[in-house]
Amino acid sequence: MTAAPAINLRDYIRDVPDFPKPGIVFKDITPLLANGDAFAAAVSGLSCHVPPDADVIVGIESRGFIFGAALAQQRNMGFVPVRKHGKLPYEVHGVEYELEYGMDRLEIHRDAVSAGHRVVIVDDLLATGGTMRATVDLVRELGAEVAACLCVIELAFLHGRERLDDVPVHSLLVYE
Ligand code: AMP
Repeated sequence: MTAAPAINLRDYIRDVPDFPKPGIVFKDITPLLANGDAFAAAVSGLSCHVPPDADVIVGIESRGFIFGAALAQQRNMGFVPVRKHGKLPYEVHGVEYELEYGMDRLEIHRDAVSAGHRVVIVDDLLATGGTMRATVDLVRELGAEVAACLCVIELAFLHGRERLDDVPVHSLLVYE
């Protein structure tokens, strides 16, 4: 009997040039999500990097919700959303962060995590690292510890990892 061939997640990432604006090559994860085996392989791949003592998954809006929620379910852990400004209904703690042009703001419910929590942050993609950096700061400002940052795709040529040198970062697919 031969084993089933291992899934190459890279085969399920579609490059969309000039989206959402000229010069950007958007890494489209929808082909991966549409394939049950590939989606499961991605979530299992992320799961390998969840430290055993971590107790909550924080997912970043919006594609971080998809992987983060699936991972939380697989690990029987709670899930906490970090959202763009003005989306969360209860009292929030927020952090401003820099975009290529201008600023943006990410928010988390004030009571979502606190001292004693060991958090794993999940997003689909690490580019310049600004979004992940802001989320690490947000979680720490509420007193929780960041055990790891996980993403499916890392655009290594943008050096996002350098902004996250105080936390373990794991990605499943690295584009050099
Ligand atoms: P950054 O803050 O620069 O690391 O950007 C990361 C965030 O922007 C993630 O939430 C990604 O979903 C999104 N993102 C940035 N660049 C891309 C890209 N080339 N393709 C898909 N998503 C991207």
